[in-house]
This record gives sequence, structure tokens and C-alpha cells, in this order.
Amino acid sequence: MPVEPVAKIWMDGELVDWNDAKIHVLTHALHYGTGVFEGIRAYETKRGPGIFRLTDHIQRLQQSAGVYMMEMPYTVEELIEACKDLVRANGLESCYVRPVVYRGYGEMGLLPLGAPVNVFIVSWRWGTYLGEDALNNGARLMISSWRRIDSNALPSGAKGTGQYVNSSLAKIEALKGGYDDAIMLGPDGSIAEGTGENLFLLRDGLIFTPPRSAGVLMGITRDSVIRIARDLGYDVVEQKLLRSDIYTADECFFTGTAAEVTPIREVDDRTIGSGTRGPVTKEIQETFFGAVKGEIDRYASWVELV
Ligand code: PMP
Repeated sequence: MPVEPVAKIWMDGELVDWNDAKIHVLTHALHYGTGVFEGIRAYETKRGPGIFRLTDHIQRLQQSAGVYMMEMPYTVEELIEACKDLVRANGLESCYVRPVVYRGYGEMGLLPLGAPVNVFIVSWRWGTYLGEDALNNGARLMISSWRRIDSNALPSGAKGTGQYVNSSLAKIEALKGGYDDAIMLGPDGSIAEGTGENLFLLRDGLIFTPPRSAGVLMGITRDSVIRIARDLGYDVVEQKLLRSDIYTADECFFTGTAAEVTPIREVDDRTIGSGTRGPVTKEIQETFFGAVKGEIDRYASWVELV
């Protein structure tokens, strides 16, 4: 997806001009994938831009850094303020916010511990991830031939930059095959998640989603949607799922910061439910969009105004 430049990028404590945000070719993370990151969205609210669950995202960033034994050179509070400063400086009403903590320039070789830890935060305008049609009528997916990384190979619960070559391979396969995105099976063959999304399905009025032990990222949208669904009166069960559970589901949808709540209308050329956005998906999707825009008091604490 092309990115349109905005005014500023936050780099190691300073707001620098977009075109001046440069790093050295010997940046450790560029060679070995030794970075961690977050994907966050800010939405337009009546009281200006609100960053959705910013604190939770920065806390997850810190946890990811800890897994990779990177000490963040800024506190969670400092990075929260940095994200807000950046959105303010760029004058964006709504945008995507991408903090990256990474091993910088200084040392080569596989032992990263001597390389400096640097941080940048970028924000840009980002519309719907899988397209308006997918958001309204559902996405067409395939089950990837690429397995989701085994959490004993790479920690699936952390957002390491290097881990995303796994998702990238699946995404390429899906797009080349004419689909919008892919669902990945975990090492045990059960359903894990999308390339950058968690998966939910509805059967006989119950909502199911794979548990942490299926090797999925504990998505912040996943958590929000579980809360919303329960508040709407649905039972949500975290349970391992088989691919046939998807084929025979009444409804199915993806959640993620980028994908928001995107219905799934087809998987492996099989129609899911009615073949369009189902009523429960719609109800959850509408509540989610109300929450992110600060329109629902019950979820007001999720919206962190800049
Ligand atoms: N799974 C993976 C692999 C992801 O990359 C993402 C995006 N961060 C998600 C799920 C959804 O997580 P979140 O709702 O926190 O964006």
C-alpha cells in the first residue's frame, strides 16, 4: 500500500522532517530482523483525534522488546506521549501509528546485545486495509500452505519485525491466487490466525476464536471484540478450531488494528454462511466503530485523546 508522506517522524526523541528520517545500511534489524513494533490507529472523534488503546499497544511493545532482550531506551509513558506529539505535529485527524524499537547501527553478527536500541514512530493516513467492499460484504480468503510460526521457533506472542516474513509469504500466496488475504494454520494444524488479524467464527449463536495456545498474537482488537460481544450478550469461547469449522460456520470475521472488524464471506472458494456480512458480525462491527470513535461511554477509556 503506498504511503503518502506527512510532515514529521519521531526519531529517538526528536520530531524530524519526513525526508530526513534516515538510518544506516548497517542497521542490525535490517539484516537480522531484530526489531519489535506496533500497529495502532487513531480515529477522528468529536474531541479531536483519539488513539485507540494506545497504552495497551505500548505495553505490548515493551513486552515484545523484553522477549527479544531489548531494553527500551524510553519508558512506556514517554512513548505514549511521543505518539500523541507525533499525531498532533502531523495534524492528522485519523491515521495509523507505527512505533518500531530496533537494534541499530554499531555491531554486526548474530549476537545483537551490543548493538544500540533505537526507536522511531511514523504516522500516515491509512484507509481500510482489506478494502471497503471487504468491510461491507466480506473478504475472500484462502488457507495458506505456509504454516504460522511455531512459538518454539519464534515467539508468536511478540511482534518481532523478523517474524513478519512468515505473514508476508502467506500474503503473497493469497494475493497471487486471487484472494484478499490468508488464514494460517498453526504447527498442530489447527486454525491460528490471519497474516495480521485474529479470526472469529459464529456457530449456533456461540462465538469461537482460537486460544493463545494456538500460537496467535493476543490482538488488542481481539480483546476489544471479546468484550464487546460479551457485553452484547454473546458467549465467546476460546477453543482450537479446525478448517472444517470455518467452512461450516454461520459467520466468520477477522479482527485487527489494520483490518478492524472485517467479515469473511468465502474461504477456499467455499461460501461462509449467507455469503455476505452476517447480522452478528454487523452488530459487533458497528459497536466496534462506535467505540473507536468515542461514541460509546462504556468504552470511553479505550480512546486516548491527543
Ligand atoms: N495477529 C497478527 C499476526 C498480527 O500481526 C496482528 C496485528 N497486530 C493481529 C493478529 C491483530 O492484533 P491487533 O488487534 O492488536 O492489531
